[in-house]
Amino acid sequence: MSNNLFETPIEFLKGVGPKRGELLRKELDIHIYRDLIHFFPNRYIDKTYYYKINQLQETNSEVQIIGRLINFKTVEQKHGKRLVAIFADETSQMELVWFRGLKWIKDGLKTNQAYVIYGKVSQYGNLFNMAHPEIELLSEHKASLRSAMQAVYPSTETLNNKGFTSKGFNKLMQQLFIESENLIKENLPLYLIDELKLISKKSALFNIHFPKSQELLNKAQFRLKFEELFFIQLQLITKNLIRKHKIKGHLFEIIGDNFNNFYNDHLPFELTNAQKRVIKEIRNDMGNNAQMNRLLQGDVGSGKTIVALISMLIAKDNGFQSCLMAPTEILANQHFIGLSELAKDLNINIQILTGSSKAKERKLVHDSLENGTLDILIGTHAILEDKVQFQNLGLAIIDEQHRFGVEQRSKLWKKNKIPPHVLVMTATPIPRTLAMSLYGDLDISVIDELPPGRKPIKTVHLYDNNRLKVWKFIRDEIHKGRQIYIVYPLIQESEKMDYKDLMDGYESISRDFPLPDYSISILHGQMKPADKDQEMRRFAAGKTNIMVATTVIEVGVNVPNASVMIIESAERFGLSQLHQLRGRVGRGAEQSYCILMTSHKLSKDSIVRMETMISTDDGFEIAEVDLKLRGPGDIMGKQQSGVLNLQIADLVRDKDILQLARQYAVKLLKEDAPMEKPEHAMLRKAFIELNKKKNIWNYIS
Ligand code: ADP
Ligand code: MG
Repeated sequence: MSNNLFETPIEFLKGVGPKRGELLRKELDIHIYRDLIHFFPNRYIDKTYYYKINQLQETNSEVQIIGRLINFKTVEQKHGKRLVAIFADETSQMELVWFRGLKWIKDGLKTNQAYVIYGKVSQYGNLFNMAHPEIELLSEHKASLRSAMQAVYPSTETLNNKGFTSKGFNKLMQQLFIESENLIKENLPLYLIDELKLISKKSALFNIHFPKSQELLNKAQFRLKFEELFFIQLQLITKNLIRKHKIKGHLFEIIGDNFNNFYNDHLPFELTNAQKRVIKEIRNDMGNNAQMNRLLQGDVGSGKTIVALISMLIAKDNGFQSCLMAPTEILANQHFIGLSELAKDLNINIQILTGSSKAKERKLVHDSLENGTLDILIGTHAILEDKVQFQNLGLAIIDEQHRFGVEQRSKLWKKNKIPPHVLVMTATPIPRTLAMSLYGDLDISVIDELPPGRKPIKTVHLYDNNRLKVWKFIRDEIHKGRQIYIVYPLIQESEKMDYKDLMDGYESISRDFPLPDYSISILHGQMKPADKDQEMRRFAAGKTNIMVATTVIEVGVNVPNASVMIIESAERFGLSQLHQLRGRVGRGAEQSYCILMTSHKLSKDSIVRMETMISTDDGFEIAEVDLKLRGPGDIMGKQQSGVLNLQIADLVRDKDILQLARQYAVKLLKEDAPMEKPEHAMLRKAFIELNKKKNIWNYIS
């Protein structure tokens, strides 16, 4: 029992009991002693500072003052009485006010004695007052053993009403330490504690609740943040190791005709060094008998498609089929056309399957997939349907990963007895910190170099009243032979209104750019796939000058002759979306432009977004700003934010600690993956316990 005291249900803690225990479980998910001790304060009140009354300001929250009580008076008011005392120090005077327990208070306090008061101040006229202050004789205050920094715990209204104030939590924590302090065991290896100069687990837990000084509080926070991130990294990396050892992958040993033929004779351009490096990484993975699970990050236009093709050629050379899944039909089509063109001199059978494939085509695809005559299948979610059976799927590629969830990834896995190698390609750069904590179990490749000869896109921010100027600019560009995108926001909650905005815009653009001199395409989510496709093709073929669209075109669409991107109501887009949209231009040889149109009313965040877009075109830099503005949960969506349910660390603020934790976790597991060495015994125990409880392992396929 004593060993497992930390597992004791919370209601057994003195001062809790069944009713309050129930409340703790419901409101805060605190079930056992261990949960409570890991329930951390969210801020601290500095009780080392004593204010003078003449220093008070209305903006002060809680203050502590030393002074004397001058006199009391009882004031009659509508509902009962109140007790008012004049409290003075050498600088000025203020009022203390009580509405309850008047007699008891009055009898307990003496005038002309030094007291320390503590509480919230407010101002009436030019007199400050404090209602129901904490009050204590200065002599007692000096004698009591209080910690300078007082913990304030996050709470809810319900809890507050039941006495779970910060003071209440303070008491519980005290009790908890009395009952179990000696049971707090170290869980990090001692050499690590030495090397990083960490304080012990026990001291960290104590000082996070009862900091003895700011310095010890800092140390406690550092230690606990490091520990939290370190364990997550251990979990992610272990998972990766297990996958590599246990999950055998198809072994692609052969570098055969298709690869060689294409690589030596049919490359349409020289690959960038980044592309070459990434291809090497993929080849290594697939030639290694372990299942590949790789994330390929590359900014828009960095050339991920050809990497995908080359990887699929390797699969083909080894006798396997591949599939490439895109989030929209437009994209799937574009890939189909582009890849067919690239591979036209090779003996490769490429087909497409989407929601709008006709029954006959569908049947053909199904049959040739099953009999193995189909080498590469390109498509949308339609590929995931159970009816779609491969003869031997060896490689599955997902383009624009952020649109696909975890479930879909796991569906792909199950398409084969031996799971295929998986390559996830994304143009949304994920800040390293996030990638490390979310995808620590994936290997990551980065194409960090754009193909040569690209001119940086010129980006400007204009207010709506500059529209005439913008229209003139468009006209000039069209006369030079360029094509233009004009994009309207589409946010689901107000789809109808957005649709109206789009249509109004379309009408006025049609008036200003009339036929037969100009022709305009339109593209939005409510169109039938076939119509969308046709409009896209017309624009891509240069038959229309302007494409008016919603964010349907956000992802991946490639029209090199389009050189101007105008984003309407740009303040309504997130940074990563703006960056994606801008990436639609700048794909040809001409100078390209991105014009961000907004109203005059901009929030602080919107201004930061516009400024960021103007100042950089580096997707990773933009992603970092985005992360700061929105926070990690928002960026990655609910599904994945579970792992981000951090208790004390913060992925944005504690980036450096995360980096450190990762580095140490990698090193440790490299040396002792099973954590068998005697110096890792405590760690191993804690690790197993944590996995039992949290089951972080479930969150990815
Ligand atoms: P993304 O990474 O956004 O999917 P794409 O694969 O669509 O980028 O490539 C963008 C454009 O750049 C395409 O027109 C492609 O043909 C071209 N491209 C890719 N790699 C190179 C390269 N190494 N040199 C020149 N052009 C390239
Ligand atoms: Mg792409």
